[in-house]
Amino acid sequence: MDVPKVAPQPASVAQIERLLESPEIQRLIAELMETRWTRRPGYPVRTMVGMALAKSVYALPTWTKVVALVGEHWRLQRVLGCEGEPPSKWAAYRFAEKLRDNGESVERCIDAVVEGLKAKLPSYGTDLAIDASDMPAYANGQRYVSKNSETERNWHTDPDASWGHRSAVSTRRGGGFFGYRLHAAVCTATDLPVAWSVETAKAHETRFVADLLDTAKRRGAMAATAALDKGYDIQRIHTECMERDCLPLIPLKQTPDVKRGEHRPPECQHGVWTFAGADRRRGATKWRCPTGECAPASTWIKADRLHPLIPRETKRFKVGYRKRAAVEREFGRLKTSWGLKPLRVRGLDRVRLHTDLTVLTKLACALSRTRAQSSASSISRGSAPRQAKILTTASRRGHISPRSIRDI
Ligand SMILES: [Zn+2]
Repeated sequence: MDVPKVAPQPASVAQIERLLESPEIQRLIAELMETRWTRRPGYPVRTMVGMALAKSVYALPTWTKVVALVGEHWRLQRVLGCEGEPPSKWAAYRFAEKLRDNGESVERCIDAVVEGLKAKLPSYGTDLAIDASDMPAYANGQRYVSKNSETERNWHTDPDASWGHRSAVSTRRGGGFFGYRLHAAVCTATDLPVAWSVETAKAHETRFVADLLDTAKRRGAMAATAALDKGYDIQRIHTECMERDCLPLIPLKQTPDVKRGEHRPPECQHGVWTFAGADRRRGATKWRCPTGECAPASTWIKADRLHPLIPRETKRFKVGYRKRAAVEREFGRLKTSWGLKPLRVRGLDRVRLHTDLTVLTKLACALSRTRAQSSASSISRGSAPRQAKILTTASRRGHISPRSIRDI
């Protein structure tokens, strides 16, 4: 059997153990335990959740490979609580089905992990980058068994997948692909996803921005800005962002009104008018005559695609838009380091579950690392009680302010 060559790293085993002990994953386990196993009694839910986490931590494409890995390594079996009797791949497939039937529990777990990250990392989710990335199906997209045949094939097919177009990236040419697309909103400060959804490839990417922003909001991430590429530069996206108090950072597409110059700032005999601030409540930007000799010397322009609240010529736009690369980087990491690619499941609900579990594992790892860091720093603070006592006495006397204690 094709067993992964690399033995599980002790660090990864410890990581899975930490994940299984985190309150969010424990709640997921408890919720799944409440739902009855409808078929034969299986392995403990905790073991199976651990298998699902291991699948992403070790970036394994199939349950068969996870089962093989766990079967070979007693350390993993001990952490998963199945020492000596690792689960079969059939148990893993039944569990995946159970997870699909209990999508709300998985969704609640994701919400809780995102909320936990938001509590630890206040900047998480404030500035988002939104984009879509291709996920080729585990199928070849050919409908008939051969070129001139009228017999429809019934293998290597995926009824939910469809043909979509992807743009050229670096040395890869653009072109058609068969499968799905992952639409994601990624935080540009932490590079962590906040909201995502998987859709069939032919569905137009601009249809999902509003849902991503709503999901981010539900999870407690109030997006202040969203950076999107030129493909999203349509009035509806600008409106959807503005309605959600999120300022869009989208480069201008060369549409007929742009060619007519309607996006340009006002001009007068004194020159091109300069940007003088935006008023969110009014939903407009203010522009001023460069010399102030005109009457009136300033004017308001209602915000729209051609005149966004963060004008495209400002530094804020340029700096913010540059951070859009965060979403591209994250797609790459999810695909290569977390096993999002290659797809080895068919059908939209299975591809969605695979994606949810992959991103959930990544976010849960980030959360447990953040928690470990903050508890480590509180331990190191507490390990010097003598010094702390002296400082407290000194501060009581008014020599040292509380802030400088923290700085020491
Ligand atoms: Zn003027």
